[in-house]
Formats: sequence, structure tokens, C-alpha cells
Amino acid sequence: VRRNPGENEFHQAVREVIDCLEPVVDKHPEYTEAAVLERTCEPERQIIFRVPWVDDAGRVQINRGFRVQFNSALGPFKGGLRFHPTVNLGIVKFLGFEQIFKNSLTGMPIGGGKGGSDFDPKGRSDAEVMRFCQSFMSELAGHIGEYVDVPAGDIGVGGREIGYLFGQYKRITKRYESGVLTGKGLTWGGSLARKEATGYGLVYFVDEMLRAKGGSFDGKRVVVSGSGNVAIYTIEKVTELGGTVVACSDSSGIVVDEKGIDATLLAQVKEKDRGRVSDYATIRGGQAQFRAAASVWDVPCDIALPCATQNELDAGAAATLIANGCHIVGEGANMPTTPDAIRLFRDAGVRFAPGKAANAGGVATSALEMQQNASRDSWTFEHTDARLAQIMASVHERCAQTADEYGLPDNYVAGANIAGFTRVADAMLALGVI
Ligand code: NDP
Repeated sequence: VRRNPGENEFHQAVREVIDCLEPVVDKHPEYTEAAVLERTCEPERQIIFRVPWVDDAGRVQINRGFRVQFNSALGPFKGGLRFHPTVNLGIVKFLGFEQIFKNSLTGMPIGGGKGGSDFDPKGRSDAEVMRFCQSFMSELAGHIGEYVDVPAGDIGVGGREIGYLFGQYKRITKRYESGVLTGKGLTWGGSLARKEATGYGLVYFVDEMLRAKGGSFDGKRVVVSGSGNVAIYTIEKVTELGGTVVACSDSSGIVVDEKGIDATLLAQVKEKDRGRVSDYATIRGGQAQFRAAASVWDVPCDIALPCATQNELDAGAAATLIANGCHIVGEGANMPTTPDAIRLFRDAGVRFAPGKAANAGGVATSALEMQQNASRDSWTFEHTDARLAQIMASVHERCAQTADEYGLPDNYVAGANIAGFTRVADAMLALGVI
């Protein structure tokens, strides 16, 4: 805390991991001798830069850009870029720290990093977003590369932004280096199923949790927060597996649709028209209701899937979910559940999947996109989706097995943190003190 003042989310993320690692450190004195944990908490490199750009009215705007290259023991730094007004160094560091262990859990050769800017794309024209992305990449280009650091999307960064960023990287470097960014469009190096991967992967993970106890999504009532990339494809896959998503949200309110949110319509409203969930309710007519400033967690459900942003599900919301009979929570977003809420779930026997395991499908499929780029190949949707399902099953297995091994059955938080940390720690030991 003294070393990184004011970085509250980063402290929260580190504390959660450290709390789980006591038995690991006891079992492996070599980690302590080589200060592996201390080194893991210190990014290898942090880049902060000015992003000046000109808006449509001709005014000069200044934003701040970040890239935190946290840990490259397992492979090139890999993690998304977030464009949202709340972005600051503490947020980027929490996301980058989580990313190390998430990437490790996938079993793929990728290190951890994260970046972004306090730029808000909401309400900006395409031309403004393009000028911003070009300015942002003008600085970032010197710090990334296929073998160095491979950014992707996150909140506020989707296909449009990745396109402008990739275009500027290509212009600056004069290289068609497909593997430098993931989340690309299908005609210029992107992978089928990448757009769907985080949401689908979350549902595959929760399906594994259900199946481990002989259950399934069939007939379950589900609520999802958010209505962005992760939320839309979570809703689509839950529906396909027989569940009904009765509510989702954005930062202005929630939409309740008892017959089930229509993922295709939601994608049309959010991705194509860049509209709000209130627009979804209007188009859906009497069947769906929009409730301004309401919380999705007040809508009774069996399964809750937070897919919006950090710390969006607090102890009060957890108490309501428990009282309403919710028995599984799976994090699609990064760190959406506060530590108090996680404790309440644990005490009430609610099974809880942390984001670093449950939402790992996005980055895993990004690594599959890198594989396709490296081999100048493009796989079918079915092939990539099947690999994603396989990867999520193995992430689930790794977490569940590790939790059992440490005498903490069903504790996916401990399982994910221990399994994720151990793989990175062993690589760091092998590479020496660097
Ligand atoms: P999007 O920008 O596509 O969507 C974000 C959604 O969350 C929007 O509905 C947005 O509402 C809502 N939201 C964002 N910030 C807030 C806030 N402060 N308060 C209330 N609502 C908010 O982002 P993604 O779907 O890509 O990301 C969602 C989460 O999933 C993030 O935590 C991200 O880190 C995580 N994640 C994403 C991955 C990916 O592949 N995209 C991979 C792994 C994790 P509004 O439009 O009103 O702002």
C-alpha cells in the first residue's frame, strides 16, 4: 500500500491472491527464497503517455494512455485495452495483475499485461474515435509486437477500435504484423468465435460446475449484468443451453424480459446501432420493461453472471441474491464481486467462479487467433469453438483439482489462484532473478 498509494483496486486484487497462497508458500520455500511473490506484484514495465487528438469541433483534447507490462515469464505480454473515463493506473494494474494468473490458467504460452485510456468513446463520432486511436497507437506502437506484447479489446474497445489501432500500427511500422493485436476483423486476420469467446467460455465454465453436481442450465433463471460484448454472448449461450436470461443492464438501468432476453436483438441494438438497453425494451414492446437506475441483482434468479465491471456486486446485492435462492455466481467481468460479497456467498454455500478462471475463454481464444496468424491459417467457427470448450473444461478441472489437493473442495477462488500462481512461479524460478 505504501509503495503504490491510492491504487485501491490493485491492492484488492493482490490481497485476494495472497490470501490464497499461504499453503503454497509453506509447501514451496524456494518461492520465498527467490522472492517470486514480491516480483509478481511489481510490473516488469509501466508506460504512461499523453494522447492528444482533435475533436469534430476542432478543439484539442488530451487523454492519458497506459500500458502495464506485468509479467512475461510464460510468453509475450497479453491483455486488453480499456477505454473508459474511470481508467487510471490502479485500474490498469489490477487488471494486468489478474491477467497474469488468468493467462497461466489457460495453459497457453502468454504473459500478462493490460492497458487503456481515460478516453470515453460513448457519444463520439467514428472520426473522433479514429483520431483518438491513431494518436494512442502512435505512442504504443514502439512498445508492442508479436513477440513482445499483444493487446486486445476490453470495455470500450471492440472491433471498430481494434481496426483503427491496427491500421495505425501497420502505417507506422510498415509491416503487416497480424499477430500484434487480437480481436481483429474476419477479413484482416481475426478469428471466428473470438467475439463470442468470453461469454461462451463463461457459460462453458458454469456448465462444468453444474455438471459436476449432476445439474445443467436447462430450465434455470439467469440474470446477467451489462449488455456489452461479454454479456451479449453469455446470454446467447445460456439460451442455447436451455436457460432463460430474464434481465440484463447498462449503466443507466436494467431491462427485464421474463420470456428471455433476445440476444440477437440485443446485439443489433448495442453493436450495430450503438444504442442502450432502454432502446431494446422499446423495440421489444410490452414484453420487456426498462427500469432506470435499478439493480439486476434484485431480480430473482438461480444463477447470477456479472458481466459489466469491477465491484458491481456488493454485500447488499449478495444478500438479496442469496435470499432469492441464487446458488451459482460466475464472473464474466474482472473482479465484479467485492470481497465481502464473496465471503457471504461462501458462508451461504453459493458456488462461486472467479473471473480469472471463468472469463479466461476470451484471452484463450485470442491465443488461438495468434496461432492462426502465425501459421497463416484460419479455422472454422466450429473448430475454434470446440477448442474453446475444451480449454474451459480444462481450466475448470485445474481449479477444481487444485482446490481438492489443498483440502478446499469447491473453492474455485483458491483453486484458480493457486493453480495460476504455481505455473508462473515455476517459470520465474527457471528463468532466474530477472
Ligand atoms: P463492453 O464495453 O462491451 O461492455 C461493458 C458493459 O458493462 C456495458 O453494458 C456497460 O454499460 C457496462 N459498464 C461498464 N462500466 C460500467 C460501470 N462503471 N457501471 C455500470 N455499467 C458499466 O465491455 P466487455 O463486455 O468487453 O467487458 C465487460 C467486462 O468483462 C469487463 O470487466 C472486462 O474487463 C471483462 N472481460 C472482457 C473480455 C473480453 O473479451 N471483452 C475478456 C475478459 C474479461 P454502458 O454501455 O452503459 O457503459
